[in-house]
Amino acid sequence: MRIDLHTHTDVSDGTTSPTQLVRDAAAAGLDVLGLTDHDTARGWDEAAAAAREEGVALVRGMELSTRLDDGRGVHLLAYLPDPTTPGLVAELERVLGGRGGRVPEMVARLNEHGMAITVEDVARQAGDTAALGRPHVADALVAAGYVAHRDDAFAAWLEAGRPAYVGRYAAPLTRMIGLVEQAGGVTVIAHPWGRHDPSSLPATALAELRDAGLGGIEVDHQDHSPEQRRELRAIADDLDLVRTGSSDHHGEGKRDHDLGCNLTDPEQLERLLARAAAAAARSGAAVPPGPFADQPPG
Ligand code: AMP
Ligand code: FE
Ligand code: FE
Ligand code: ZN
Repeated sequence: MRIDLHTHTDVSDGTTSPTQLVRDAAAAGLDVLGLTDHDTARGWDEAAAAAREEGVALVRGMELSTRLDDGRGVHLLAYLPDPTTPGLVAELERVLGGRGGRVPEMVARLNEHGMAITVEDVARQAGDTAALGRPHVADALVAAGYVAHRDDAFAAWLEAGRPAYVGRYAAPLTRMIGLVEQAGGVTVIAHPWGRHDPSSLPATALAELRDAGLGGIEVDHQDHSPEQRRELRAIADDLDLVRTGSSDHHGEGKRDHDLGCNLTDPEQLERLLARAAAAAARSGAAVPPGPFADQPPG
């Protein structure tokens, strides 16, 4: 069984629609697909309809913007929460507001550096995304011919420490872990040692997060070297955390993140779903259907 648990669509900063993502997943030979747009569940229904058509098992998820006490960002994957739980909704609204609110400042800084793009240019690139962000600013720079690819826009202008970087609100990590659990879902830290979102998460910190309810860590990710993967795998096993592997596919938006380029072991998916089911039972939340609700694992 081929399982990829972390992907994006144009509902956030991917470049394909939810329907197209599911079709691409089927074409890539995936049996199970995790849809994890940033800070929104808006793509779930469309993806679920396509998944039924294509015979792909869909794991409804999100990738949540959180931060450590020192301010550093951590991306938290949340699988199968009820996205209408009030506490979670309130945090997501705050995060989404902060995402879009900084666009004028980023544009102003780019203007100062001689790049004549406008907020409207960014909005055009963003289309009707639920989660506006730096990727759409990057797309506006590509469209205007200032850089060749999104990656280049980040490296030159948009990464932390570059001239047009502007921070934004992110929810405290342990609080978000608790909110997802109360919403009947299970959490996995995305690319914990990733090069694009460097956090400070040694094994001791991961142990504390596990005690706060964390369900797993993403071990196999393109941002992790073979050595980091070995280390993270050992930490996960030691701490009894679920370990996942995923593409973090963004369509054309990220190079070298093809669907299925990293996979999750079926036993690990089973553990993840068991933890989600336990949280759902504890919370009584109206959680979404799991991946095998429509078709049994095959
Ligand atoms: P934002 O959420 O607006 O701060 O933008 C962060 C998003 O930009 C992440 O979710 C990534 O998908 C993307 N991103 C971050 N760093 C890079 C990079 N160096 N190249 C391409 N995309 C990136
Ligand atoms: Fe992204
Ligand atoms: Fe991420
Ligand atoms: Zn991601």
